[in-house]
Amino acid sequence: MTDFPTQLAFDDAIAIIREVAAKHRVDTETLPLSRAHGRILAADVVAPIALPPFDNSAMDGFALRHADLGEGETALHLVDEQFAGRARDITVGEGECVRITTGAPMPTGADTVVIKENTREDAGRVVILARPSAAGANLRRAGEDVQAGECVLQAGQRLTPARASLAASLGVPSLTVFRRPTVAVFSSGDELVEPGLSLAPGEIYDSNRELLMGLLRAEGLEPTAWPRLPDDPRQVEIALRDAGCAFDLIVTCGAVSAGEKDHIPAVLQQFGQVHFWKVRMKPGMPVLFGSLDQARVLALPGNPVSVFATFLGFGRTLIDALQGRSEARDAERAQLVAPIEKSHARREFQRARVFCDEHGVLRADPNPAVGSHRLRAVGESNALIVVPDGPQRLAAGSVVEILRYV
Ligand code: AMP
Ligand code: MG
Repeated sequence: MTDFPTQLAFDDAIAIIREVAAKHRVDTETLPLSRAHGRILAADVVAPIALPPFDNSAMDGFALRHADLGEGETALHLVDEQFAGRARDITVGEGECVRITTGAPMPTGADTVVIKENTREDAGRVVILARPSAAGANLRRAGEDVQAGECVLQAGQRLTPARASLAASLGVPSLTVFRRPTVAVFSSGDELVEPGLSLAPGEIYDSNRELLMGLLRAEGLEPTAWPRLPDDPRQVEIALRDAGCAFDLIVTCGAVSAGEKDHIPAVLQQFGQVHFWKVRMKPGMPVLFGSLDQARVLALPGNPVSVFATFLGFGRTLIDALQGRSEARDAERAQLVAPIEKSHARREFQRARVFCDEHGVLRADPNPAVGSHRLRAVGESNALIVVPDGPQRLAAGSVVEILRYV
């Protein structure tokens, strides 16, 4: 097995992931709008119509001509009614008004809507109690939101509920999106036991599988968990090669360091490719990124907190790049509640509880638990603080990058 003596800088590892994934982007498909939620758009969406499509009332009330209103109260003849969804060809003449509901097309001649609450009805006449200061009150103009032909959504954006509703409002029935990458999840280690079975001496329960399944589902994927990999090179090879020809992405945890039982790097070197192995980060240093057959492989170290740091650090980038997401996720920052010091060069990921204080400031309270096996500290936290490369003395109040996971 070729060793990788030099640890890669974190940012260089990210660049490699983006570059490799861009060459192996999943293909696209056209889906009905209702099935495209959460997907990444593969094509721009151009508005086929204007929004609103026609001038209409923003309120329930009476459509009238502003010029007909005097300083005080004005009585107008009620000549007709116009309801939403029943467009009729109605004209408002001098001294007249038309009863109108929200969303109903404006009658010809009317330029203003007075809300019902500012009127009084009196034997076929409507008394307007207060005059709006200018014509155009309570009116929504055709095209004031979107003009026909405008590009409203861009390829590379994620289809959020708000964006789906925008497409729907334009009458777009289906969208071209990237397919969801298929993902196989592996835990590895002879010591691992399924929850529900009893533990023999030296065994522990497999906790990373649930962690990874949850983190992947939170990305909108539908991961498939494979049976645990034993620490046996031949079995690791067979299982990974099987998955390599069937999935877009393989995420493993454990068996990726330098121990006698860490067989994943050798299998990838022999049967696939290793794009990088070992990154200057803490925890998570032995993380490996490779390819095997048609799959990209993200091999994470086994310590539960390392799984967190490497998944949040690299897994999200890989998933985004595989499905063509070009819109950057919002970088989040918070103020440290307590100081952080480190003397090593690696980028460090520390568990923290992030909360918004009474002044509206996002604050990060580092969890003092040391050790990448401390899962309870992960459970009590909701984010990782990213402590930059190189020695750092960050005073309380310093602004740091955070990766939230709830
Ligand atoms: P490894 O990377 O295989 O050397 O594992 C590092 C540490 O993480 C060991 O203490 C393992 O027992 C532990 N570990 C590995 N995989 C899991 C898992 N799926 N669930 C819980 N702990 C694990
Ligand atoms: Mg192991």
